[in-house]
Amino acid sequence: MLPRGADVMGQDVVVFVGEALANYGFPAGHPLGVDRQAAFWSAAQEQNLHRQAVVGRPRAATRPELERFHTAEHVSWVEARSRAGEGYLDYGDTPAFPGVFDAGAAVAGTALEGLERIMAGNAAKTFQPIGGLHHAQRGQSAGFCVFNDLGVVIDTLRSQFGLDRIAYVDIDVHHGDGVFYSYEADPALTVVDIHESGHFLYPGTGHADETGRGPAKGTKLNLPLNPGAGDREFFAAWERGLAHLRSRAPEFVILQCGADSLLGDPLADLRLTPAAHGRVARDLARLANEVAGGRMMVFGGGGYDLRNLAAAWTRVLAELLRGD
Ligand SMILES: [Zn+2]
Repeated sequence: MLPRGADVMGQDVVVFVGEALANYGFPAGHPLGVDRQAAFWSAAQEQNLHRQAVVGRPRAATRPELERFHTAEHVSWVEARSRAGEGYLDYGDTPAFPGVFDAGAAVAGTALEGLERIMAGNAAKTFQPIGGLHHAQRGQSAGFCVFNDLGVVIDTLRSQFGLDRIAYVDIDVHHGDGVFYSYEADPALTVVDIHESGHFLYPGTGHADETGRGPAKGTKLNLPLNPGAGDREFFAAWERGLAHLRSRAPEFVILQCGADSLLGDPLADLRLTPAAHGRVARDLARLANEVAGGRMMVFGGGGYDLRNLAAAWTRVLAELLRGD
């Protein structure tokens, strides 16, 4: 066994789990409950993956950290709703509950903890199963997403670390509208988003002709799939996506690997298997190793069938741990 010197440590994969993240779930039979982290983590332990990864613990984002992406008004609104402990944070998908502010701040803060470890050279890759809240916009919550941890990470990379050329890949069954539209005119953020067509599914966006605006035109790929599409259709789209990513040579890679694109998810209609998630994780890890100094963050995103999310996310984690 190699000594655990600085070089070896630098290749570590950190997986973030803990009570503050598990608490990110909505009450009273909501499809996004508090049982998702445990479903993933017990499967990871059964496969002995927990011994190969470094376990990182959650931390809360501070208000200024949240405001790197979100408006001050939105942060205050969530804080007030959290104190009131009732009502909705949006039009009716995302309920407020006592402590919803802290739950959202834990997701974003843990993402920053992972980012800081990578940028300090103490980790190469991170996996955060409870995270990837891609529907929240700068000024509002949406679609089960209180704060957008992905946007907080992207804006932190720019403002605190001076990294510009970032790739965002999203294979959640829903279009990642909160990320896409926040950077629609930003040419340095490459996006590849494969999802069930917005003609059939929330949020109704992410059509193939949306490739970025103004100076960003052509920097983003939306690759919608029709209901019922499986691995074959997915892999055809992914070949296009991967070629696009290679041509953009990003300095940092972010993957949102929602498991709601798998066959049997109660909220959507694609028929992928965990092989899709594994292949994307492996291809992106290799790309990150080739062009981005290995730097890659992965977030679980959606997924409302517990067996599906456990299967997809353990497959992703296993690919990150392969280290080739
Ligand atoms: Zn989703």
